[in-house]
Amino acid sequence: MSVLEMWNPATAKKMGELKEAKKEDVEQAMAEAREAFTSWKEMPLAERLRFIKRLREEIVEQAPELAKKIAQDTGKVELEALMSDILPTVSTLKYYEKKAASILKTKQVPTPVTLIGRRSRVEYRPMGVVAVISPWNYPFMLSVIPVVSAMIAGNAVLFKPSEISPLTGQVIEELFSSLSLPKGVFRVLHGGKETGHHLVDAGPDKIFFTGSAATGRKIMAAAAEKLIPVDLELGGKDPMVVFADADLDRAVNGALWGAFTNAGQTCMAVERVYVESSVYDSFVQKVKEKTDQLRVGQPDDADIGSMTSPQQMEIVESHLKDATEKGARILCGGKRLNGETLHFEPTVLVDVDHSMKIMRDETFGPVLPIMPFSSEEEAVQLANETPYGLNASVWSKDREKAGRVAARINSGNVCVNDVMIGIANPHLPYGGNKDSGIGRYHGPEGLLTFVHPTSVLTHPGKKRRELNWFPYHPDQFKALRSLLHLLYGRRPLQGLKGLPKLTKEFFRSE
Ligand code: NAD
Repeated sequence: MSVLEMWNPATAKKMGELKEAKKEDVEQAMAEAREAFTSWKEMPLAERLRFIKRLREEIVEQAPELAKKIAQDTGKVELEALMSDILPTVSTLKYYEKKAASILKTKQVPTPVTLIGRRSRVEYRPMGVVAVISPWNYPFMLSVIPVVSAMIAGNAVLFKPSEISPLTGQVIEELFSSLSLPKGVFRVLHGGKETGHHLVDAGPDKIFFTGSAATGRKIMAAAAEKLIPVDLELGGKDPMVVFADADLDRAVNGALWGAFTNAGQTCMAVERVYVESSVYDSFVQKVKEKTDQLRVGQPDDADIGSMTSPQQMEIVESHLKDATEKGARILCGGKRLNGETLHFEPTVLVDVDHSMKIMRDETFGPVLPIMPFSSEEEAVQLANETPYGLNASVWSKDREKAGRVAARINSGNVCVNDVMIGIANPHLPYGGNKDSGIGRYHGPEGLLTFVHPTSVLTHPGKKRRELNWFPYHPDQFKALRSLLHLLYGRRPLQGLKGLPKLTKEFFRSE
């Protein structure tokens, strides 16, 4: 039996162990989920939503304890667990409680005159069993939102939390088991890559994956073998573009939070800052002064918590080494706080360029590299010079310019004079372009991604034959050509010219 160890990265203390789900466990869970799906999808939406309401209220009741556990699991500051994991989750749940009925409602759509006599509608039918595979950085929000979205849409869900944040996986398991859901509708499969691999292999009807681009590629390749649809929410290298006319203090504060919240381990973190040359020096000066004042420490009393995994810390160190070897200067920070826990000093870097990993690859740590630019054109070019396209921010008091630049950045999400916060609005779809992913969730898209929009066309069924059926009439080609002119042509009246005499025999319906 393999076990997952639970470690608190901010204290370097072991918290416990969990049993990993093996291939047989995954297969059995899949069989139970398939069985459960048949009745869950038939349950009226209002009833399914009652479970979700109970879940939301339970999360709010237990919020302080949940935040504490998420913080123990990840090393993040408790306030951040409450603010960035729990708050957006309950806000999205509430949004779907209000909107799901209208999003999933069968929609009547027009039927063109060429199909006269029929009616058309779109039904949103659940897909079956959805696999949700999630990462460790916001282990609550990035799990509960897709799980619940899939369930609201009528699917059963098998959920695999990250092996790096197993305690949060266990917390989610406990929360859901308190709802007394029908057996098999939701199941947590604890484990690492192997368990994730078995889950994909078990042939779910849809995969919703959040994690790195490297794993996303593997999952998509495995899913392709079975033609399983995938949503991929992947990494980022998000640019922040600061023009000289921006409110500099606001931009500096935004840069600090955007780069250092959650110890920089945010897919939408500010990973590159470009500042217009005329204000570059004063921006850098302010950033350094404010960074020096940030408190790094324990989850209940700090601005910046610890990082979550030693592997991620090594990536941060390797990016810093590569940058300094190529001429970058560290203005503050740059090293671990101690040899035991995973605390890393918030780090500000200048003299950077795009030959360095720190400006190209996802760093995912508390590092803020700043680079000057001299024209709008150059800012757009630098911002777009990345394989990623998750989020971006543009800072200027000139709204027209900010909007213009924002529109030219190839990114799934963009903020103007603000940072990262789009994901907190459940009305907005969320997802990445380029290597940052495929698909969108949140907003109406967040339910529609878990259904098959199914076209239904109905006829009263009282006519024995339709005009387009056999046998074809000798005048049918001419009649159809006339109709094309009348309905869709440049000169509709031309249609009347070639119109054959439409005899009773032409319309014969027996
Ligand atoms: P990861 O890709 O290493 O792992 C993510 C999940 O996939 C884990 O649960 C892991 O066990 C599982 N997994 C790994 N290999 C697998 C396989 N072959 N088959 C099935 N499952 C497998 O990512 P991570 O380190 O946990 O998370 C950090 C990454 O996630 C960063 O790149 C970050 O930018 C990205 N991320 C993206 C978003 C977003 O919304 N776009 C949000 C948060 C994090």
